[in-house]
Amino acid sequence: MTATILDGKAVSLSIQNDIREKVLSHFSPETAPRLCVILVGENPASASYVRTKCKMAEKLGFRHEVFHFDEDVSSAEVEERIDACNADPECDAVFVQLPLPKHLDAVALPNRVRADKDADGLTRAAMGALLLGESNAFEPCTPRGIIRLLDAYHLDLTGLDAVVIGRSNIVGKPMSLMLQRRNATVTMCHTRTKDLASHVRRADLIVVAAGSPELVKGDWIKPGAIVVDCGFTKTPDGVIHGDVDFGPASEVASYITPVPGGVGPMTVISLMEQTLESALKRRGGKA
Ligand code: NAD
Repeated sequence: MTATILDGKAVSLSIQNDIREKVLSHFSPETAPRLCVILVGENPASASYVRTKCKMAEKLGFRHEVFHFDEDVSSAEVEERIDACNADPECDAVFVQLPLPKHLDAVALPNRVRADKDADGLTRAAMGALLLGESNAFEPCTPRGIIRLLDAYHLDLTGLDAVVIGRSNIVGKPMSLMLQRRNATVTMCHTRTKDLASHVRRADLIVVAAGSPELVKGDWIKPGAIVVDCGFTKTPDGVIHGDVDFGPASEVASYITPVPGGVGPMTVISLMEQTLESALKRRGGKA
């Protein structure tokens, strides 16, 4: 069997068209949704993610601004900037690009963003709402994007045995909650899991977010399983690796995400959708 590609780039493109239409009909260039980005230090991966998000914001007709701080910036300075964005009526969404240098608190700083501007969906309010099953709150962008992608291919998750590899706050934990909400039966795996392969072998749906290149082997995949690979590791030779051994896995799976072009574009477009949502809710626009 050769798997159908879950094409995040194509699905993102169709969402981009919807967003652009809404921006045009609800806002003028002066009042367009405005995204504020907090970037600290010179981590090349973070700088590249921020560039990608800003390019997309521009493409959609959003306003955007990057507040770029030196590596040794004090926590107080970053807090002051987040507070200013929170108070600024022209700012619709604030997000703090992770990871942060070690002396800064990577939970407390994103959590300082006002809940109604938390387009990244990583504050306590957003996480709490997710845990309690409340709708109307912003959601963490990567798992939200994955659900949007699975929905775009009309994949019904009810009753599926799902395995999530990785328990980070930004992907694994919220992903498991969202899959439960879609009536999947979820097993969480992590570095202390005994015999990871045996869990993967019985899974109908696998979401991997480990950051460990080609961790999941093709012969671990149950025939017909759906495979979602969040992994994104760039080796010194410039090659990008996912967490799944894509070639062999795609021979066995029914659906599979490529890396790049699968989860990444869906994460970015989720941030944009939630920025637009914030702008529409808070300022309504002209329509
Ligand atoms: P993280 O380092 O915060 O967490 C990784 C998790 O994976 C941990 O819970 C750890 O227990 C688990 N893990 C690591 N190695 C494992 C192994 N060998 N066996 C079992 N579990 C293992 O990472 P993260 O922020 O969740 O990101 C994970 C990956 O996803 C990275 O490659 C990251 O670049 C990528 N990512 C991509 C996007 C995107 O939009 N494409 C977004 C977020 C993260």
